[in-house]
Amino acid sequence: MGTEEGKGMDRRGFLKLAGLGALGAAGLPAGWSLLKPGEALATTGGAARAGSRWAMVVDMTKGCPDNCTKCMAACKTEHNVPTFSDETDPRRHEIKWIWRTPYHNAFPGNEQPYGREDLEHKQVMVLCNHCVNPPCVKVCPTQATYQRPDGIVMMDFHRCIGCRFCMAGCPYGSRSFNWRDPRAGLPAKVPNPAYPTRMKGVVEKCTFCSERLDKNLPPACVEACAEKVLAFGDLESAVSPVRELLKKHFTIRRKTNLGTQPQVYYIIGDQGGAEHA
Ligand code: SF4
Ligand code: SF4
Repeated sequence: MGTEEGKGMDRRGFLKLAGLGALGAAGLPAGWSLLKPGEALATTGGAARAGSRWAMVVDMTKGCPDNCTKCMAACKTEHNVPTFSDETDPRRHEIKWIWRTPYHNAFPGNEQPYGREDLEHKQVMVLCNHCVNPPCVKVCPTQATYQRPDGIVMMDFHRCIGCRFCMAGCPYGSRSFNWRDPRAGLPAKVPNPAYPTRMKGVVEKCTFCSERLDKNLPPACVEACAEKVLAFGDLESAVSPVRELLKKHFTIRRKTNLGTQPQVYYIIGDQGGAEHA
């Protein structure tokens, strides 16, 4: 989605695209402005949500320019995600919020010996799925990870004791543990002083840019994607872009057999239209 021009979506543009264009700030549904971090602890593990249900659609039929990393870079900047480039194995301590993985890692069990060869080589954008039934929330002993009424699975870094039960519980590998001081992996000038930096020994992951949604802004990755591979919106709004896409296209989700009900949907398309993920 991004914006009509890719970048620079303002609040009004996002409200329209999110399916809330008819609502002023005062008319936003319960669950939009939502809770501050930690305020939603009472909702931990609860299935109830009020008003909105956020979801993302990844359109794999749209071509990402080679090696495009704009969405990933935007997420890193927005959330002060560290980069450790001095390692002999830089992925060893990698902190991942949104990243690419081979198609069959994202969708294991979909292998077909006579299936589409292009999928074998495809890279898929993956992130936290903000599952309707998030096992990570159920196993966290401190309620450091919790679910907002709009379905977003949040992290309260201050409550995290680093036990990593949530990492074991997440079937998607969507959580990263700070084995090193993440602040050491940031530039001297912190990219986004408005977003809290973390400390060694806590878990982190994508939060669907809850801090931006609370300001009626789209997720940073969606805004950065000029190719509109990523779309975002409210499933509870019949006119939201995600509802439009889900109505028009056949989509798949990751590991649906587990009953987690992931809220990131993938348009696979036919071979001719699917050059890159
Ligand atoms: S590592 Fe932190 S968020 Fe994960 S289960 Fe333990 S306390 Fe909860
Ligand atoms: S993808 Fe993993 S981290 Fe995200 S809500 Fe589901 S189980 Fe939790």
